Amino acid sequence: MSFAPILDNLPLQKSQLLHRFADLISPRSDAELEALAQEAHALSLRNFGRTMRLFAPLYLSNECINNCRYCGFSRDNPILRVTLSLEQVVAEGRHLAREGFRQILLVAGEHPKFISQNYLVDCVRALAPDFSSISIEVGPMETADYVPIVQAGAEGLVVYQETYDREIYSELHTSGPKRNFNWRLDCAERGYKAGFRRLGIGALFGLSRWQEEALGLAAHVEYLLKHCWQAQITVSLPRLRPAAGEFHPAFSMTDRELAQLICAFRISFPEVGIVLSTRERAALRDALAPLGVTMMSAGSHTEPGGYTRQGSDDLHRTVRGKIVAPEFENGEDMLATGQFEISDERSPAEVASVLRRRGFEPVWKDWDAGLVPS
Ligand code: SF4
Repeated sequence: MSFAPILDNLPLQKSQLLHRFADLISPRSDAELEALAQEAHALSLRNFGRTMRLFAPLYLSNECINNCRYCGFSRDNPILRVTLSLEQVVAEGRHLAREGFRQILLVAGEHPKFISQNYLVDCVRALAPDFSSISIEVGPMETADYVPIVQAGAEGLVVYQETYDREIYSELHTSGPKRNFNWRLDCAERGYKAGFRRLGIGALFGLSRWQEEALGLAAHVEYLLKHCWQAQITVSLPRLRPAAGEFHPAFSMTDRELAQLICAFRISFPEVGIVLSTRERAALRDALAPLGVTMMSAGSHTEPGGYTRQGSDDLHRTVRGKIVAPEFENGEDMLATGQFEISDERSPAEVASVLRRRGFEPVWKDWDAGLVPS
């Protein structure tokens, strides 16, 4: 069984839950939206209390063999690239640990030569003493390839489908293995079979009509809840941000629509985690938090080495995938290029303090291997 036929049949056949979800994301008056917000808030309190998990992305590499029109790391973009050495990864990790983080997400572009299974295993092993929860967001792999990474200590797998619209997916992913829509779609299940106990999925809002994208994502959540029931499922609802390559989103999603979507996910899937990243600006993140958000990144950098300026001696530029000497343009910072621009630039401590003031308990660590009976 795979999610693909269910997704393809979605226009003709929806579960009751998905009919309800579609209704929740249909146009609403201000009064109706306020009622949804209150329901979502009450459900969040019941299921998660006043907690907010804080995590940080740690970018390992911005090498990539794919061309995704919306992403700064695309192979053909002439950007400054680097893959951090193990020592550099540990230095970045130590910095994040000093800031209080115990949950990190290791992020890298897709490049089997630089971001190999062995490299990921080594990174996870080296970071495990400092972090209670390590997740990865890298190019999709086979189940057997994930197993050693899980055994090394990674517990979460994050893979966004980007868009659930096959036609748009094909237009946006112009070259590289990512063109295979179904291979990506089944990735979370392969990860589950390998032993990941947290699965994160998401769509990139701005690539297609947001309501249709949301429905595809909701159907995927419903499917994973049934088929990967021992894992904790989280959804991310990122909106496109400016990035190298200057892609302009064809579709928009307003702040109000994003708020409504968070409410719809919370009401339809009360136990599913909802992630909100620093792509969104500070004031909006603060306002959205009570609606159902359970996990936030803070103080993020999307360039490898961005926290402690690691890797600047190993930088190179690529032009259509070919490595050229890194001549720096006037005023250019000697740092690898980031994946996209950040909106909320507050430090982790500031984010935690605002959360506390608003009645939340920031959670830096919610899991300890020592809690599991051996
Ligand atoms: S979205 Fe991922 S796969 Fe596509 S170019 Fe960016 S890093 Fe590579």
